[in-house]
Formats: sequence, structure tokens, C-alpha cells
Amino acid sequence: MMPLWYNNLSGDKRYDGDILAEILKIRAREVLDSRGNPTVEADLFTRYGIARAMVPSGASTGIHEALELRDGDESRYAGKGVLNAVKNVNDVISKAVIGMDCIDQKAIDGVMIRLDGTDNKGRLGANAILAVSMAACKAGATSKGVPLYKHIADLAGVREFVMPTPSFNVINGGRHAGNNLAMQELMIVPTGAETFRDAMRVASEVYHRLKEVIGSKYGKDATNVGDEGGFAPNIRESEEGLALLEDAIRGAGYQGEIKIGIDSAASEFFIGGRYDLGFKYKKGSRGKAKTGREMIALYKRFAEKHDIAFLEDPFAQDDWADFSRLTAEIGKRIEVIGDDLLVTNPERIKVGIEKKAVNGLLLKVNQIGTVTESIKACKLAQKSGWGVCVSHRSGETEDPFIADLAVGLKAGHIKAGAPCRSERLAKYNQLIRIEEELGGDCEYAGANFREP
Ligand code: PEP
Ligand code: MG
Repeated sequence: MMPLWYNNLSGDKRYDGDILAEILKIRAREVLDSRGNPTVEADLFTRYGIARAMVPSGASTGIHEALELRDGDESRYAGKGVLNAVKNVNDVISKAVIGMDCIDQKAIDGVMIRLDGTDNKGRLGANAILAVSMAACKAGATSKGVPLYKHIADLAGVREFVMPTPSFNVINGGRHAGNNLAMQELMIVPTGAETFRDAMRVASEVYHRLKEVIGSKYGKDATNVGDEGGFAPNIRESEEGLALLEDAIRGAGYQGEIKIGIDSAASEFFIGGRYDLGFKYKKGSRGKAKTGREMIALYKRFAEKHDIAFLEDPFAQDDWADFSRLTAEIGKRIEVIGDDLLVTNPERIKVGIEKKAVNGLLLKVNQIGTVTESIKACKLAQKSGWGVCVSHRSGETEDPFIADLAVGLKAGHIKAGAPCRSERLAKYNQLIRIEEELGGDCEYAGANFREP
């Protein structure tokens, strides 16, 4: 066969049959995430050094997500240990991928997918597979001598860089907080900022203003924070939370420059076929729970009264019909994002496209379990004209991988929690570095987060 040369965005030139950096060894271990639960970390060795990746973990996980393998041994970490997943990396996966070129992400991920052989990565565990997939991706970048986002851009065929608009979850509810708020995340989205760095400053100023607003209204103990670093005042109504946000935005002097994003995570309160916004405090409140149509009316009211950028998971994970109805009604003005609905799974995304269920994808690498499939999911969404928001999980680590992923995929937006707690800032601070490195070569997506 004729040798093939390619010259890609990162300037990497190589002969297509050479191994640039073979995987020499992989070593995984059990470490702890931001909630103090075990998770998988993998070190992948090449002649260029060690690439390390850590896997995040959700709380409001969708039922269609790839399987996160937990030991179930109640004598350790209440059954949440990941020693079996670690063993799968060290004893099974490593044997299959050692000797492969870390630059061949598709081949490495393909080998792991075939080795697992299930639809949901249930044999080896998506946490085991993803740790290796992300570590290989980092090793690929190092062996090419380019930053991770450039390597990801090469893998995804992205030819220009845009800094993603961040969404900061500053009021936590749902499964992420011990308060009575049903909806999981109320976010501020600094669409009017000039640069990513500027967006961080704006968000931090509003965050601290919000602390004052909440403290003076409900007392100091209402300013304790939830899993993603946002405040968790003991409010019941989303409207009350939206008013707090607007108070803080006004108080900090950014009216008109910040939009609001909401992740209802509605699967969590879809009980017996209805949406029960009182599920955290009223036992048996089902009689008053809302139908899908009533939820649509509620969201339309939100959209009329507030400057909403996007609504994520406004309905439960299999309620395609209500998603489609809402998208048809408000989708031009507001991005309707599927998280639990789509679980970063190309097959479910295809259904979403067919049903016109949403116009935005939430992209979480551990929902699907490999970098290659995440790229595929992103491309599918982008080709359909959807927005793409790269997302952290509520259980996070200090690994900033998703920051580079968002830039490498030209995703348009990212959510990584509040501008508070270092597992969240690990991502945002990495984006500050990337923007600095790219200098004038990239724009901040700002209000164009849906089509960067
Ligand atoms: C989300 O639902 O978007 C989220 C980040 O939460 P979790 O990681 O708990 O699924
Ligand atoms: Mg969500």
C-alpha cells in the first residue's frame, strides 16, 4: 500500500504506518472523587511519559447511560468501590491495548468496545474503559507535542477554535442538594462577556453577590453549597431561585449581559407518569403533580418572564413527545437540551434528530464511555444544527479533560458547576490557560453558543 502522509491542524506530519508512541504499560487505581466516592484513575505509559486520567460520576444518572461498574461489596465504601473496574483495566484492557499507538484513538476505543462486547459496557465497566480512553487521548497529544485540545480537534476534524460560553450552576437543587428545590440547576450564562476570562470574572462577581442576597434573605446557613459548588438555600419554587439570580445579576451590575440556564433533571421527579415538583418535601404530593402539558405551560411562563438561554432535561428521559412539543413551541428562541434523554449515545441522538425532540446535546464522556463515541455524538448533533454543551458530572475530579474537549470539539458551551470548588475550577482555569495560549486565534462564543 502507498504510504499516506497527513498534515493536520496541529502541524503533525507522519507516515501513516509508523507507530508514534506505543502504549508500554497501563496502571489503574481506585481514588476518590469530589463527593468522597471511589472512582477509577488510569496511568498510561509511553516513551514520552505518563498520561493520567480520572473518571467522573453522576448522581442524577440516566437509565440509558453506559454502566458504571461498582463492586457492590457493602463492607467497602458502602458498596461503591471500583476495585473490579480497576482490575479490568490492569488485567484485561491493558493486555489488549499495550503495543497499540496512543495516537490511534479510534482503534484503541474500538478494541475496548469489542473486548467488552455489550451494548452498555456492562462487562468491563464504562468507568474502566473511559479511564483508558481519556489517558490514551492525553498520551496522543503529548506524543505529538501538541496541547490536548489540538489533538482532539485533529481527531474530530475541527479546523478553528472557539472558546465555549460557560454556564455556572450557582443554585443547586434536585439530587445535588439537601434543600427542597425540585429542579436541579439554576445557572448563569455570561453571554455578554468579551472573552472567556471576562466571563469568569463576571460569574465570580455575581456568585459573591448572590451569597450576599441569599444570606440577607434567608440567613447565613442558607449560603452553604451543594455538590457542584452552587448555593443550596432551602427554597421550594424555581421562580424563587430565578428571582434570587436576577437580584444578584442586577446587584452586580450585569443586567442584560447574563442569561439563565435551567437543568430540571426532570427524570428525578417524574413519578407515576407525572412531574412532582414537591417530591423532596411532600410525601404523597402526586395528586398535585403536573402533566407534561402543564410543565410546558410552566416553561413557557419562565421563557416569557426571564432571559432564558436553555432548558436542559425539562422532561423525563423517555418522554420524547413532550420534548418534541416544547422544542416546536420555543426552540427557535431557547435551546432545549437533552441530557438523560440522549445520554451522549449516537443511537439515541439519531432518534432525537428524527423526532425533532431537542436542539441541543449535553455531552458527558462517561455516559457513553469512550472519547471516540463522544466525538461521534458531538458531530451528529452539530450536523443537525444543534448546539453542544460539554458537561462535567456532579461527582467530579481534578482532571480538566473536558475543558480541552470543549475547545477541541468547538462545542460552543460548557457547564462545569459554580465558579467555586477546585474540581469545578480545574476545568474553568484550564480554559483560561487555553484562551491565553490561543490569543487572537480564537473568539469567545458568547451569545453564539448555539452555533459558535
Ligand atoms: C446533570 O444532570 O447535568 C449533571 C451534571 O448531574 P449528574 O452528574 O448528577 O448527572
Ligand atoms: Mg442534566
